Amino acid sequence: MSDKGLLLVTGGSRGIGAAVCRLASRDGWAVALTYRSAKGEAEAVAADIRRGGGTVSIHQCDTADRSSIAGLFGEIDALGIPLKGLANNAGIINPFTAFIDADPDRMERLYAVNLTGATIVLQEAAKRMAKSRGGQGGAIINTSSIASRLGGAGACVDYSASKAALDVLTFGLGRELASEGIRVNAVRPGIIETDIHSDTGNPNRVADLTDELPMKRAGSAEEVAETILFLLSERASYVSNALVDIGGGR
Ligand code: NAP
Repeated sequence: MSDKGLLLVTGGSRGIGAAVCRLASRDGWAVALTYRSAKGEAEAVAADIRRGGGTVSIHQCDTADRSSIAGLFGEIDALGIPLKGLANNAGIINPFTAFIDADPDRMERLYAVNLTGATIVLQEAAKRMAKSRGGQGGAIINTSSIASRLGGAGACVDYSASKAALDVLTFGLGRELASEGIRVNAVRPGIIETDIHSDTGNPNRVADLTDELPMKRAGSAEEVAETILFLLSERASYVSNALVDIGGGR
């Protein structure tokens, strides 16, 4: 059973988000996870959680669509469990290309998911957690990226810029929401073994990069998730506005 309240994980069907869901249930959170299209994967994560005796709900949501986010939070409210955590994690990357050749439609879509959608999710969650609005406070973790300090030259400057904006949202909201009992932090993963790399156009990207990574290996989704769970927990009760790099020295 959950004793910590509800943790909403956007993009909880695969990769880092799925690992967060599994470890969050281990740590006593009730989990609400979203997926965009991978319903089967979302159901598999939920089945694991239920097998372990945890509480979980699954919600279809395209975070690029405001009405879809509104529908998600209506479902969250109907659960009747106080929302006390947000892993603001859903994100996409585009095929790597020089900036001047990047397709504007794809850039617009990327910002709709990684920035506008993530911002609206932050706002809806904060409204529910804020003590001045009847909430119980809580913790928010944005999934940024080390790309926000590397810049992504020649490959993914648009993606890097969307993650840099998440860093700034973390700084600003960490200050704005502190008096509401809400801590806001971000993790900045480096190269992590998930499906997202195929979307860059190179399905072998992780293997191709391994030799140049300081630890000579990519990170795992679980290694990122453990840090997110720490930041969500009371063990991090005085940590806010922090950007935590999980790049194995990158
Ligand atoms: P992933 O395996 O591709 O998973 C992406 C997740 O986001 C999936 O659950 C997906 O849902 C969901 N999603 C995608 N578009 C969405 C949309 N429009 N609306 C709602 N959900 C959407 O990627 P990942 O590597 O775990 O990435 C998770 C986060 O970590 C992203 O923000 C990414 O930018 C960041 N990150 C990853 C790395 C890395 O090396 N892997 C490094 C730095 C930062 P479906 O399953 O339904 O498609």
